[in-house]
Amino acid sequence: MSDRLTSAGCGVEVCLTSESVEDKSSVPHCPHGPTLLFERYIRGAPSGEKFYACSACRDRKECSFYLKYGEKMSEARQEAWADITRASQPLYTHKEFCKRLAEFQALPMSKRRFCEACSLLLLPGEWGEHKQHHVLQTVTSDQLTRPTHLLHPRENKKTNAQYLFSEKTVKFFLSQIQQLGYDRVLCVGVPRLHETIQSRRAAGTSQLDSLLLDIDHRHAQFYSEEHFCHYNMFNHHFFDGDSARDACLQFLHRNHGDGIVMVTDPPFGGLVEVLCHCMKKLYELWRKGLPDTCSQTELPTLWIFPYFMEHRIVDGLPSFKMLDFKVEYENHPLYQEGPKSKKRGSPVRIFTNIPTDRVVLPQEEGYRFCGLCRRYVATENRHCQKCNCCTSKDGRTYVHCDLCQKCVKPAWLHCEVCERCEPKGHVCSQRSHLVGCYICGDPRHKRRDCPQRFSEERYSGTKRMSGKRKRNMEGNNETSGPVKQQKCSSKKRKVKRKQKQSNRRQQQL
Ligand code: SAH
Ligand code: ZN
Ligand code: ZN
Ligand code: ZN
Ligand code: ZN
Repeated sequence: MSDRLTSAGCGVEVCLTSESVEDKSSVPHCPHGPTLLFERYIRGAPSGEKFYACSACRDRKECSFYLKYGEKMSEARQEAWADITRASQPLYTHKEFCKRLAEFQALPMSKRRFCEACSLLLLPGEWGEHKQHHVLQTVTSDQLTRPTHLLHPRENKKTNAQYLFSEKTVKFFLSQIQQLGYDRVLCVGVPRLHETIQSRRAAGTSQLDSLLLDIDHRHAQFYSEEHFCHYNMFNHHFFDGDSARDACLQFLHRNHGDGIVMVTDPPFGGLVEVLCHCMKKLYELWRKGLPDTCSQTELPTLWIFPYFMEHRIVDGLPSFKMLDFKVEYENHPLYQEGPKSKKRGSPVRIFTNIPTDRVVLPQEEGYRFCGLCRRYVATENRHCQKCNCCTSKDGRTYVHCDLCQKCVKPAWLHCEVCERCEPKGHVCSQRSHLVGCYICGDPRHKRRDCPQRFSEERYSGTKRMSGKRKRNMEGNNETSGPVKQQKCSSKKRKVKRKQKQSNRRQQQL
């Protein structure tokens, strides 16, 4: 799945029109909340087929919702989807979970059991139903405050991969948050950070507070409604409706909105522009609580994501800068220290809108302050006089190419044919066709800004869309070509097959 593979082909873009995220009633829902509108396009065609699909699941096996734009769903299908949605609900409401937790905590240690198969704390009356399952026979109070140690991380690569921070990384975040003077953390998809904050708080060793927003509803059995909301960060959806949204609002508005920082570690396959869009919705919620005189528009944020997504993040949130800190994970062999790790360390970084000179990276790991860049940089990074900044990104020392007029990866060579630096052994000119607009080929703009497209759209009366849908991002290649839409290369057959599959799916429902 790389730019280089492609010749012509097709792609999919997400359409972040106001209706798709704001007026949720007009948008079809799947079990993961309001769906998103996408457009499948083919090279050379100004507009393609539009359809609604799940916001959270990139794997159609997990949520196969599909509805052509403009089409109405038959009643039978609507009912089938209502059934699927009901079946995917958590076993209990959050309130019920809270009651169960209180009962569970009152049990003697010998009666505290946890079903690993169902990821459920069991009350004595329920043991019988789980006889055939793998059941933990004791749950300590310490384990109750550390659910990520009890729950098996979901490992579905495409949708729900849960990669937990190493202890060192959690410590780093906590010390940063403390040094920067925040008193609470909005934890979006960072359960391990949240539980560490909560368990320290319970132990009385820290005053720091936190609220976890996560799509994994298994957490609801461990936290009160003040401390957990079942939330989808790809459509800004609170599964438990207004009461959960209010709990989040209260948390945001505490202390007139002051003293709060957001930390988020979304699935790396997620669409960046959708994440940015929803992050802005969270910012809006927060701003509602601020005095009008406050000019600050963004919640201070630490967003954890791979370095090669930098341009996309900065595209969506121009105030964000990438920090050199390498974020490490406990259950990801490539992204941690040790024999299996990548030589250059983890490719995962922190993106932030907090002034970079305030985020101090640990000296004992070789990070140092670059006075010219006003930020802490990694050992291997060098300040390039010509670029006027510290240019290394991937953990190696980049070198300046005078012809490209920028620093490039050390193993790359300047190629006369491609007129740019490329890896050794690359196939020449494979990228050139990607430079131009996907509709008219003009190299000065991209598909989303193509004038042909707007005239057609105005004519057909559809709204302007922005952005690109890029699926199957896992194991992203590190190329940083100017256009990174997903393309199915010349394999038109594959497209046809996919269309057939989705037709079949439609017929099934
Ligand atoms: N490193 C983090 C975990 C990151 S894994 C830690 O150690 O705490 C990604 C997290 O995002 C998981 O907790 C997962 O449940 C959550 N997540 C995945 N998709 C989501 C979605 N659509 N909305 C909200 N949270 C999501
Ligand atoms: Zn869905
Ligand atoms: Zn520098
Ligand atoms: Zn340079
Ligand atoms: Zn070059």
